[in-house]
Amino acid sequence: MTSSAAADERPGARASRGIRRLPAQGLPDARGRALRDLRISVTDRCNFRCVYCMPKEIFGSDYRFMERDELLSFDEIVRVASAAVSMGVDKLRLTGGEPLLRRGIEELVARLAELRTPEGRRPDLAMTTNGSALRVKAGALRAAGLDRVTVSVDSLDDGRFQAINDVRFPVQRVLDGIAAAAEAGLGPVKVNAVIKRGVNDDEIVPLAEHFRASGQTLRFIEYMDVGSSNGWVLDDVVPSEEIVRRIDAVHPLEAVGASREGETAKRWRYRDGSGEIGVISSVTGAFCGTCTRARISADGKLYTCLFASQGTDLRALLRGTGDDAACTDAELRDALAGIWSRRDDRYSELRAALPPEAAHDRERIEMSYIGG
Ligand code: SAM
Ligand code: SF4
Ligand code: SF4
Repeated sequence: MTSSAAADERPGARASRGIRRLPAQGLPDARGRALRDLRISVTDRCNFRCVYCMPKEIFGSDYRFMERDELLSFDEIVRVASAAVSMGVDKLRLTGGEPLLRRGIEELVARLAELRTPEGRRPDLAMTTNGSALRVKAGALRAAGLDRVTVSVDSLDDGRFQAINDVRFPVQRVLDGIAAAAEAGLGPVKVNAVIKRGVNDDEIVPLAEHFRASGQTLRFIEYMDVGSSNGWVLDDVVPSEEIVRRIDAVHPLEAVGASREGETAKRWRYRDGSGEIGVISSVTGAFCGTCTRARISADGKLYTCLFASQGTDLRALLRGTGDDAACTDAELRDALAGIWSRRDDRYSELRAALPPEAAHDRERIEMSYIGG
């Protein structure tokens, strides 16, 4: 697949000055999908080495992470987010790497919480985190204006959890972080579990039962062929349909309609009214048709698809390069509008139509780089 962003690698084709008038429902891409969500990766570093995301053999002591001046500064992140919000984005999510490792993250949260949509609403402000620092940081994040967190928990078995994160981090500290987040008002806390066959698929029902009892919404994510370092094969994927079937056999479920266009999780509720789960069928049920997301890597590249191999260098625009001066806000907005309006990505739909070997035979960015 080619990313539409790839065709626009260098924003040298500096868009004309002046602000484009946008339709009320947001800026449509080439397939009519409005830009609604922006995921901002604030660091490529992580204190975990999850075997499916940052395997130690690749992300070892000699791995070169970004230097501080390569990262977008808070000022630069706020400028990009502000431009996106003025164009119809009403959902911002901070991610990484591990976003809580970025020094001063509360300050960034506070500044993003001040943004307003053209209608005067506050965009929804969320974070995806491994939860390792939540116990300490939940209160400050809430006070700074964060609305919600999503925490990743792939196993409740401590030995297995430690084997997956590969840095011997105990699961109880993450569960304590989730409790602290809920108590601080960062809820409803969502929990993400990536299911890999033969690794943790025997925990589908126990995970569902645990988070039903503790009141969090658990979302099962199909293991994806993102990046090139995790040795993904199709047989490792546990289809969402199987996940739902296994839970339904023990705790009957019924489907719930989507609450928002572009929602990636299909929702199911327990028939006894005790809560709900979500399944994200990134592999077996492509949802490109309603994908309203753009992503920014920590070094300021804009990607219009999780599976893109190239992005557009916004940092060069923001800082200026060579003869090009730093862009104005109007130019930044125009550049974003130009990139989004040419967007044609639908990798998962195309992958579904290809034999697995062909689909995997291409360069992709790593999940820890773009934040999922
Ligand atoms: N470090 C934070 C965390 O783990 O929540 C945020 C970044 S992490 C890259 C975002 C999400 O991507 C996590 O929920 C993680 O489980 C998920 N993820 C990473 N690699 C994946 C893969 N190959 N397939 C599916 N999900 C993946
Ligand atoms: Fe770190 Fe999150 Fe990747 Fe695990 S999934 S290695 S916590 S970035
Ligand atoms: Fe969106 Fe790309 Fe994922 Fe399709 S494959 S849902 S276009 S990010």
